[in-house]
Amino acid sequence: MNQFQYVRPTKNKAAIDTVTKDPNATFIAGGTNLLDLMKRGVVMPEKLVDINKLPLRKIEKESGAVRIGALALNGVVAEDKLVLEKHPLLAQALDAGASAQLRNMATVGGNMMQRTRCPYFYDTALPCNKREPGTGCSAIEGYNRMHAIFGFSDKCIATHPSDMGVALAALDATVLVSGPKGDRKIPFVDFHRLPGDTPQIETNLQKGELIVAVDVPENNFAKHAHYLKVRDRASYAFALVSVAAALDIENNTIKDARLAMGGVAHKPWRLTEAEKALVGKPVSEHTFRQAAEVAMRGARAFEHNQYKLKLAPNSIVQALKTAAGLA
Ligand SMILES: Cc1cc2nc3c(=O)[nH]c(=O)nc-3n(C[C@H](O)[C@H](O)[C@H](O)COP(=O)(O)OP(=O)(O)OC[C@H]3O[C@@H](n4cnc5c(N)ncnc54)[C@H](O)[C@@H]3O)c2cc1C
Ligand code: SF4
Repeated sequence: MNQFQYVRPTKNKAAIDTVTKDPNATFIAGGTNLLDLMKRGVVMPEKLVDINKLPLRKIEKESGAVRIGALALNGVVAEDKLVLEKHPLLAQALDAGASAQLRNMATVGGNMMQRTRCPYFYDTALPCNKREPGTGCSAIEGYNRMHAIFGFSDKCIATHPSDMGVALAALDATVLVSGPKGDRKIPFVDFHRLPGDTPQIETNLQKGELIVAVDVPENNFAKHAHYLKVRDRASYAFALVSVAAALDIENNTIKDARLAMGGVAHKPWRLTEAEKALVGKPVSEHTFRQAAEVAMRGARAFEHNQYKLKLAPNSIVQALKTAAGLA
C-alpha cells in the first residue's frame, strides 16, 4: 500500500477545496471499497480526505422526495422507517448487498461510486483498460462469466456491482452534488457512464465534486415492488443478474411501471421500453414475458456469460410476478 496523507475536514467546502486543488487527493467514506483497491495497488491516492465528519447523514422528507444523505449507512437506510414506508424497493436492494458488517460501514455515496468487480481490474499483473487505459481488456477473451450483455464496448465489458443503484435507477432518483463550481443535480440514470472509449471514466462527477445526498421522489409503487438478486451464494455475493421491479396496479391493470437490471451493464440498466410494454396491460405472466422479451432486445453475450441471456428475462418475469403478488 502506498503512503498517503490523511485529513478529516468538518465542512463540505474544505473537503471539496482539498480534492479540487490536489490531483492526487480523493474522498474516503466507509473505506470498504477504496481501501481494498489501495491495498492491491489498483489505485494509489496520495491524500485521503475523510468525509465522515461532514453533516451528510440525515434521511428526511424534502420537496416531495425522501432525501438520503450521502453518508447515511447502507444498513441504516435499509432499516429506516421512511424508506421502508415510501421506497421498500430501495430497502430490499440495500439488504441484498454485501454483509451486515459491510452495510454498517458502507455509505450511500460510496456505494454509488464503488468500482467494478471485474477480476482483471483487481489483478495488476494483467492488462485492463479501466485500470491502465490503452493496455487492453483481459476479459473480452478471458473468463467473462460476470460480465455485461448490454452497453459494453470493445474497450471494456465490465458490469457495475451496486444493488442499491439498480433500485435508484428504477425509482427515478436524483443525485445532489456540491463542487468547486457550485451545486447541481444529476438524474441517477445519467450519473454513471457506459464504457465507450474511456472506461476509466465511470461517472459524470467532476474532479472535486462531492455527492451530498440522493432524492427519491414520491411514487405509487410501494405496494407492488420487488428486488430480485440472483447470485452464486445466498449472501455476500455480487449479482449475476438482479431486477428492480415496481408496478402501480389498479383493477388488475398496470397503470405505471418501473424496471431496471443489475449485473448486465457498466451502469445500473434502466429498461424504459419494457416499462412502456407493461403499461395498460393486464397483470399476467404473459404480459411480463412480453415485457422481458422487449427488455432483452440488443443483448449480446460472450463465451462464459451466455447463461445471462436466459437468466435475465426469467429474472424479469419472476421479479414482476413477485411484485404483482402472482408468485
Ligand atoms: C466483500 C464485499 C462484498 C460486497 N458485496 C456487495 C454487494 O453484494 N452489493 C453491493 O451493492 N455492494 C457490495 N459491496 C460493495 C459495498 O457496497 C461498497 O464497497 C460500499 O458501498 C462503498 O461505500 P464506502 O462508503 O465504503 O465507500 P469508500 O470505499 O469509502 O469509497 C468508494 C469510492 O467512493 C468515493 N466516495 C465516497 N463517498 C463519496 C461522496 N460522498 N462523494 C463523492 N465520492 C465519494 C470515494 O472517493 C471512493 O472512490 C461489497 C463490498 C465488499 C468489500
Ligand atoms: S472488462 Fe473492463 S475492467 Fe475488466 S479487464 Fe476489461 S477493461 Fe478491465
